[in-house]
Parts: sequence; structure tokens; C-alpha cells
Amino acid sequence: MTGSELVVTPQEGWRVGFVQSGRGMLVAMPRPPGDSALLSGGCLCGGVRFEVTEPPTGASYCHCTRCQRRTGVAASAQARVVPGSVRVLEGADLVRIWEPPDGFGKAFCSACGSALWSIAPGTDAPASVRLGAFDGDPGVRPSYRQFTAYAAAWEPIPDDGLPRYPERPPS
Ligand SMILES: [Zn+2]
Ligand SMILES: [Zn+2]
Repeated sequence: MTGSELVVTPQEGWRVGFVQSGRGMLVAMPRPPGDSALLSGGCLCGGVRFEVTEPPTGASYCHCTRCQRRTGVAASAQARVVPGSVRVLEGADLVRIWEPPDGFGKAFCSACGSALWSIAPGTDAPASVRLGAFDGDPGVRPSYRQFTAYAAAWEPIPDDGLPRYPERPPS
């Protein structure tokens, strides 16, 4: 298999596959028999539908400039997900991924522009799903704010008691 082919390995759990080149090819996979989804979500136009099969492991707000640009708002809220736990049910052909040379890829719906999830460099599975993309309660709440050094001048950071990290939080 070359780098330009889809990476699809159903026997490894129906994970989403896409090429590493940044063109964002995805393939929709049907739900395996007997496998139930924990959470569901989608984009604004309804073209992209996805499921998450394991509980997200945490959530945060990101105030970085890239998140401001791609969302149009002051901060982006997202939930970390278990690699391989996200599967696209519909609209895989609509999903595009913008991959900066030095950071996480940003997946979005090419029909309506909705932000969907991020992809860690060097991996091929969603790493963080945007909280607004979930249908209901994702079961996690943001527990810190990162890249606050770049927070928007026009909106004060909420005084919510969450830890604030000027840059990436310590791992
Ligand atoms: Zn859409
Ligand atoms: Zn960010």
C-alpha cells in the first residue's frame, strides 16, 4: 500500500482511514453487527455523520490563533478521543483535512465548513473532536485553557477557574 491509497483496516476496528498527504480522503464504514456507538455527531449541513465508540478522555479550550481563524470565535472547545474510536458513517467524501506543516490536521466539512476534529501529526485517526460537533452531551467538560497568550483581544477569558496555560500545557 502506498501513501496515496486509503488506509482501511476493518479488522482493526473500523477506524477511519485517510491518506497522509493532507488531501483528506476518508472512507465511510457501516456499523459492525453488534457494535453500539456511545456518541454521535455531525456537521451543520448534515452531510457528515460520525460516531464515537469510547468515552472521550478529556476536554479543553484552545485560544490559539489557528483555532480563532478556523472557527471564527475566540476559543475552540474539543474533546480528546481514543485513537480509532471515531468512525464516519456518512459523508466521508465531504471531509477535508487542512494539514499545517507543524501541527495538528484540521478536519472540516467541505460543503458547510463545519469544524469536525483534529488529527495528530504522523497518525491517521481523529485525536480531538470539536465539542460543537456532538449531537448531545459528550460526557466531558473542558478542564483547562491552552495558548492563552494568543487569546483574542476582543473577548476576555472567562473567569471560570480553569487552569490557564500561555502555551501548550505541560504533558
Ligand atoms: Zn456539512
Ligand atoms: Zn488551537
